[in-house]
Amino acid sequence: KKKNRLSAQAYIDGVLNGDRMVLSRAITLVESTLVSDQQLSEEVMEAVLPYTGKSIRVGITGVPGVGKSTFIEQFGTMLVDQGHKLAVLAIDPSSPASRGSILGDKTRMEQLSSDKRAYIRPSPAGTTLGGVSARTREAMLLCEAAGFDVILIETVGVGQSETAVKGMTDFFLLLMLAGAGDELQGIKKGIIEMCDALVINKADGENLEAAKKARREYANALHLFAAKENGWNPQVKICSGLSGHGLDAIWEMVQDFAEKMKFNGFFELNRSAQRVNWMHEHIRYLLEMKFYTDPVIKQNMGEMMEKIRKGEVSAISKAKEFVDLFLHSKDQ
Ligand code: GDP
Repeated sequence: KKKNRLSAQAYIDGVLNGDRMVLSRAITLVESTLVSDQQLSEEVMEAVLPYTGKSIRVGITGVPGVGKSTFIEQFGTMLVDQGHKLAVLAIDPSSPASRGSILGDKTRMEQLSSDKRAYIRPSPAGTTLGGVSARTREAMLLCEAAGFDVILIETVGVGQSETAVKGMTDFFLLLMLAGAGDELQGIKKGIIEMCDALVINKADGENLEAAKKARREYANALHLFAAKENGWNPQVKICSGLSGHGLDAIWEMVQDFAEKMKFNGFFELNRSAQRVNWMHEHIRYLLEMKFYTDPVIKQNMGEMMEKIRKGEVSAISKAKEFVDLFLHSKDQ
């Protein structure tokens, strides 16, 4: 069921006019790994680039079950009710080996999915992280060009995907639960240091008191971390994604952050540093892809892997040999 491709101009016009159907097809185009799609995709991206950057980009992470989709459903509905155009992009880190996705079940965000003022799009699972995050970034830029002014990028808090999301957003929000006394041990230091806000979710009913207690404890713990260079002190909040309680304060905080960072220059500084990182990351991605798809490398890889596995040859020296082989295959 392969659809015909549109012309570059049709993609560009459609995206800039906010045509959701064309936006979806443009995102599919940039997600395509076909060489024949890449040139067209680059042409579209170049053309829309001047119309990007005007949104606020918010990363949301947290372990499965913390309430991300419920939170985004309510938070997103509040934002569109206030007149915002909202795009939600979800990075799904699951591998093909783990069969299916953590984020991908269809019942998630049912209400927001059918809301014309919002646009929800999962990133494809199963490719390399470098590839996934490159595509999510391009999808984000396409959404901005299509007029969305708030972008939420959701990821499951398991591993490297947070770093990727941190690298493409302005504000990074970590959702947590009030645990049974050992909250502080549960904090992954690396992620805490990345976040601009730590939000204790499900602060409702019987959980409310525990959530308040956890807020105090986390607030104390956060003081132990060095102040950020941008002058922002990470905030600790409580909310209930289910009842919607506390969500308005979270949005106010995000706006306050954006205002302060725009005033002190760190908003643009962060984005320009991100652009430089994206370029380096993409160079690494392209090199790696070219290396592993090189016919000479592919031809020799299987046999060599067997020897490496058995420990018959040195991994380090073979790696060097392979890279030399790759570079020489380019000379001919
Ligand atoms: P996700 O895996 O992080 O996307 O989490 P979900 O949004 O799917 O929520 C996981 C479970 O927690 C579901 O059974 C929700 O109904 C429940 N849940 C989500 N948010 C809240 C909340 O704010 N309060 C309470 N009490 N339950 C919640």
